[in-house]
Amino acid sequence: MYRTHTCGELRSAHQNKQVTLAGWVQTVRKFGSITFVDLRDRYGITQLLFEESLNAQLDASPLGREFVLQATGKVNERTNKNPNIPTGDIELIVSEFRILNKSAVPPFTIQDDTDGGDDLRMKYRYLDLRRNAVKKNLELRYAVGRSTRNYLHENNFMDIETPFLIKSTPEGARDFVVPSRMNPGQFYALPQSPQTFKQLLMVSGYDRYYQIVKCFRDEDLRADRQPEFTQIDCEMCFVEQEDILNMFEGLVKRIFKDVKGIDYTETVERMTWEEAMWQYGNDKPDIRFGMKLCNLKFPAHTFPSKENISSLIAGEFAVFNDAETVIAIAIPGCSEYSRKQTDELTEWVKRPQIGMKGLVFIKCNADGTFKSSVDKFYSEEKLKAIAEATGAQAGDLVLILAGAEERTRKASSELRLEMAQRLGMRRPDEFKLLWVLDFPLFEYDEEGNRWVARHHPFTSPKPSQIETMINNSPVIENAAEYLKHPYAGIKANAYDMVLNGNEIGGGSIRIFQRELQEKMFAALGMDKEEQQHKFGFLLGAFEYGAPPHGGIAFGFDRLCSILGGSESIRDFIAFPKNNAGRDVMLDAPASIDAKQFDELQIRLDLKN
Ligand code: ASP
Repeated sequence: MYRTHTCGELRSAHQNKQVTLAGWVQTVRKFGSITFVDLRDRYGITQLLFEESLNAQLDASPLGREFVLQATGKVNERTNKNPNIPTGDIELIVSEFRILNKSAVPPFTIQDDTDGGDDLRMKYRYLDLRRNAVKKNLELRYAVGRSTRNYLHENNFMDIETPFLIKSTPEGARDFVVPSRMNPGQFYALPQSPQTFKQLLMVSGYDRYYQIVKCFRDEDLRADRQPEFTQIDCEMCFVEQEDILNMFEGLVKRIFKDVKGIDYTETVERMTWEEAMWQYGNDKPDIRFGMKLCNLKFPAHTFPSKENISSLIAGEFAVFNDAETVIAIAIPGCSEYSRKQTDELTEWVKRPQIGMKGLVFIKCNADGTFKSSVDKFYSEEKLKAIAEATGAQAGDLVLILAGAEERTRKASSELRLEMAQRLGMRRPDEFKLLWVLDFPLFEYDEEGNRWVARHHPFTSPKPSQIETMINNSPVIENAAEYLKHPYAGIKANAYDMVLNGNEIGGGSIRIFQRELQEKMFAALGMDKEEQQHKFGFLLGAFEYGAPPHGGIAFGFDRLCSILGGSESIRDFIAFPKNNAGRDVMLDAPASIDAKQFDELQIRLDLKN
């Protein structure tokens, strides 16, 4: 037997017990004639004490960091207790030991605050995984998975596997492709999600499906994306949007309870996509804090149901006059910002990532006066009126951005988040859920001069808008005119779940009638032949009694990282890829043997 106990298990109650431990040597410390070793395994660290009698053996076979060691001895209550670790009351007085395997000197220290940089730790990920900090993240991931499975099982969901070697599923990204040896010149695509399969399972009558499943998307990797990532993928039939929202709020609340011990009893807030864009400049707003955008001016077609209050800023100031959009945010308690601070903020909005030309501010002084960078153009009374429109109080600082609609709205959203971050309003221990509803069904791709599905092409329009969809031609003569097209206003039965400003899940009620699905494909520019080639199986299935259905998928890695209070999903994936999509440990992707090319009947001829 290699061990009787783990390195995290022994307490004072085990006093005088004869035990055997096995683990990795964390540290070796010599004190005169005795030697202390911290022995580590997955469960913790136990201090081993080697008395003088073992010195000859220790000298003959010295211990080093990360050696695999088996030690037998008696549990002893320590005089000098270590309150920082659970086993700190005891130590093991070693009577016998055996080196089970040696270790080369590790390239970085296996400690919480390691000296290893990111690349080095990724190269030696198997060593990095020994570190407590990483282990805790994987434990959290496992707990989230367990909680998910328990909840879904209790609610009659069935875990059904779907294939990885498939044909393209359109989630809007590029496919990874796999050549088929048995079908030379033909390729499988790896699933961007199991979307079509879960819909087919509904047609088959498995009315509640789930899978914690890998998805593959060949995207340019922005900061925190992985080419393969994990989704909690779910689908239900005989449901309306409301049923789905309730079921999956329940799931997330259950995860909060099981994993974080948080009773999330509040109702999950809801807002429409339009409200989110209008009030936060963002379709995944962080609602842990206010600071909503105040739209002083925007193009009428953008949010037709909302009113501009542009009369307030009408005047001599050319920047506001010429701008498509003017957006203000009241920042609480910052009226005393110095010149240096406002200059720094101006520089911040001018950074290429934000891309604004400048920043206008109004200081709402505590004494009731108003001071602004545009004093020249607006009377104090006007400034006061503008500030009041933004909801600013005495002591607040109003920041105003002006420019083209899309850029300005995005920049305002970034500025709002930045200010909240600086003011400590984005607390990692506070969790706030939100449903964003009624997304547009289509998006216009100006480059391609065509409509694309905002979610994916299986998403159903709002029932009241099905007529509009059926009866309008998708053709746009002139890209600039597209917002006037009836399609622009069609809303989808689609929903996203947002947690602290992150989209953690998204889904929709699906189209389940062949005619409407064909119309949808046509709207996206697919002729009958292409529809048949790509989705003939689904259109066919819709002819054999497809039930009304809908679903959702949660980004599992992201959910774990938010619950773990980390910015990076990589920290929650055992073997992640780097930002260039490489596994630096395996050194993948890599070239393959000539023999493999031959078998595939493929000749490599790279274009550049
Ligand atoms: N398949 C979708 C996605 O990956 C989720 C869904 O609609 O259920 O985003």
